[in-house]
Amino acid sequence: MHSYDVIVVGGGVIGGAISYYLSKQGVRVLAVEQRTLGYGASSKAAGMLAVEAEYQPDHPLYDLAMESRRQLKELAQLFLDELGIDIGFEQNGMLLLGSKGSLTLEDMRELEPKLRTKEAGVHYEEGAQIRSKQLTLAYWRAAIANGVEVLEQTDVKRLLMKEGRVCGIETSSQKFYADTVIVASGVASSELLPGLCPLLPVKGEIISVTTEKRLLQRTIYARDCYLVPKGENELLIGATSYPGDGTEGVSLEGVMGLLARATALVPELAKAKWNETWSGVRPRTFDDLPYIGRHPEIQGLVMATGHYRNGMLLSAITGQLVSDLVWNNRVPEALAPVSPERRGVVEHGLAY
Ligand SMILES: Cc1cc2nc3c(=O)[nH]c(=O)nc-3n(C[C@H](O)[C@H](O)[C@H](O)COP(=O)(O)OP(=O)(O)OC[C@H]3O[C@@H](n4cnc5c(N)ncnc54)[C@H](O)[C@@H]3O)c2cc1C
Repeated sequence: MHSYDVIVVGGGVIGGAISYYLSKQGVRVLAVEQRTLGYGASSKAAGMLAVEAEYQPDHPLYDLAMESRRQLKELAQLFLDELGIDIGFEQNGMLLLGSKGSLTLEDMRELEPKLRTKEAGVHYEEGAQIRSKQLTLAYWRAAIANGVEVLEQTDVKRLLMKEGRVCGIETSSQKFYADTVIVASGVASSELLPGLCPLLPVKGEIISVTTEKRLLQRTIYARDCYLVPKGENELLIGATSYPGDGTEGVSLEGVMGLLARATALVPELAKAKWNETWSGVRPRTFDDLPYIGRHPEIQGLVMATGHYRNGMLLSAITGQLVSDLVWNNRVPEALAPVSPERRGVVEHGLAY
């Protein structure tokens, strides 16, 4: 019989972060991924750690997101030293365009000479970013180095139950047993947990272009478009948003809209060279807060999904808190707002 302490379903950034933090505590973990590690949304993200653009200071995720960004900075150094993986952490700031801005147009021109906008803005010096594929890979490499076993190209068909509690998983060919199963399968989590994990797929598209030299110093975050400079020569233009769409593929409509908005903000972008486009599907919950924690009724089941637009940003804190919850049985107060027990989950589960 194949048995482990914990089984993690899903090879994205969330499954990777959880496996990594569990492995640091010596937990015997099996991770199962339908395709290849990082295949899902986690390799499609722009990689912004945009706390200030996403959450107001009184938002339930604000402090967690701040802490996660701080941890990612430390992890960047650790992954570089121990694995030789550069996750591209850069604390280069973010210019948030919008009506509440305190900067004058002259201030903004000084910060970003190539930017053309009539909107006021706010400059957040703490704004940071990582490279999504590299971060996801780094968590998994570190977890594997610590002894986590990974099965790729393996579809988890269902959870195994015994006397009302989860005791393992069944794939197309085998059964694996564990006291705890963590579902971190991104938008597909709702298929594995029908009625228990209501999620809306929200497809997004991104364009990557190459510029001769760096056009922007920091991320520009506007209402309908963001521009993220990556290193000296790459720039990401993102992202479209199609609620209810879980399909793959990039549409001309999406690309044309993004290009129009991006070149209106930075006209010189029109001279950039085409690099590539891609799409991914964000897992959105009914109240935009992820589901992180033990299921209230099904013992042995832990959920860690629904990170919507901020899975990269929240990965470190999710990994750490879930590992603490599972292995040390600590339920931090901070997890209360994201608990799968909160009001509305059941009602939305029935409706989806
Ligand atoms: C266009 C776009 C831009 C984004 N930009 C940002 C950003 O700038 N900053 C940020 O923080 N976040 C961003 N995000 C959000 C971020 O990408 C997601 O929140 C995050 O990747 C979710 O990670 P995950 O591990 O939960 O899901 P995923 O990465 O989707 O991983 C889930 C994995 O589970 C596997 N799986 C599913 N079902 C099964 C099964 N039955 N058996 C086995 N395996 C299974 C899938 O194959 C997949 O690999 C963006 C997302 C998109 C689409």
